[in-house]
Amino acid sequence: MECIFCNIIEGNAKAEIVFEDEDIIAFLDIQPINYGHTLIVPKKHYDNFLIVPTEELNRLTVATQYIAGAVKRSVKADGFNVITNNGDSAGQTVYHFHFHVIPRFDEDFNFKPRLKNYSSGGMKEYADKIRSAVSKYKDIYNGQKN
Ligand code: 5GP
Ligand code: ZN
Repeated sequence: MECIFCNIIEGNAKAEIVFEDEDIIAFLDIQPINYGHTLIVPKKHYDNFLIVPTEELNRLTVATQYIAGAVKRSVKADGFNVITNNGDSAGQTVYHFHFHVIPRFDEDFNFKPRLKNYSSGGMKEYADKIRSAVSKYKDIYNGQKN
């Protein structure tokens, strides 16, 4: 399937590249939430966050920290968001994993969804479900840490 980010990485589509090394590329988002909105992208194609190998994710996180600092300083932002959208429901539109670095300014806009409250016992119910999934994948997690 055609991937716009792969095209950019291969040099077949244009982008305002702000950083590049062997494994990672960072370029400006074409439709920024705020000016300077930057995408940090692995050069290898992974559809989403869950399938990025640990080593690669470590390098991407370090690069994202580095780029976030540079973006914040260069546009004199008050803060920034680092986000990754995964799946249609989360707003993912390009299925090549990436981090967004979005510079933020005091009182620029409200990013807050309407917050929910757990019903009685509801919080434990959700925590139990998640604890059960967490323990199921513990061996994989421990394997990756070593
Ligand atoms: P997602 O919605 O998947 O989290 O983020 C994809 C981002 O890629 C969007 O914010 C969108 O504006 C940006 N984007 C889509 N196509 C292009 C393109 O051709 N060039 C650049 N620079 N950004 C793009
Ligand atoms: Zn791709």
